[in-house]
Amino acid sequence: MRALRPTVDTKFHIDFRWWEKQNRDIRVFMLDHLCPECGDAVGSLSEVTMIDMVDSEAAEVTRVDAIWEAIRACCSLKPGYITPNTPLLDSIFRLFLANGNRPLSVLELYERLDRRPPETILRVLTKGRVYLGIKPV
Ligand SMILES: [Zn+2]
Repeated sequence: MRALRPTVDTKFHIDFRWWEKQNRDIRVFMLDHLCPECGDAVGSLSEVTMIDMVDSEAAEVTRVDAIWEAIRACCSLKPGYITPNTPLLDSIFRLFLANGNRPLSVLELYERLDRRPPETILRVLTKGRVYLGIKPV
């Protein structure tokens, strides 16, 4: 059976298995996305602990990294987290960090970014190498 070809309705997310396979630590990468205040507060990576994240919509509690929670609850809300100059793929990665990695379709990414047509986003996400683990769900 042929794999289904992704469309603008295909949902994408950050695939953490990709990071594991690449032997890359997504937490190190996330540090770059902290605002200066959180960067100071988080301290060294070895001190960072897991905390409970409460999803108010789903009323679910998930164990997440303190770095990620800082991005979600603080840094992603500040101006400059995603700017018109942020490269498209980086913007998409930042969106997933900000929303707790809830899967989004290409159309939903387009609505949130309001920059490139959905077809362009789909092409960027599906052609060439996987970027920062952003893959179809
Ligand atoms: Zn912050």
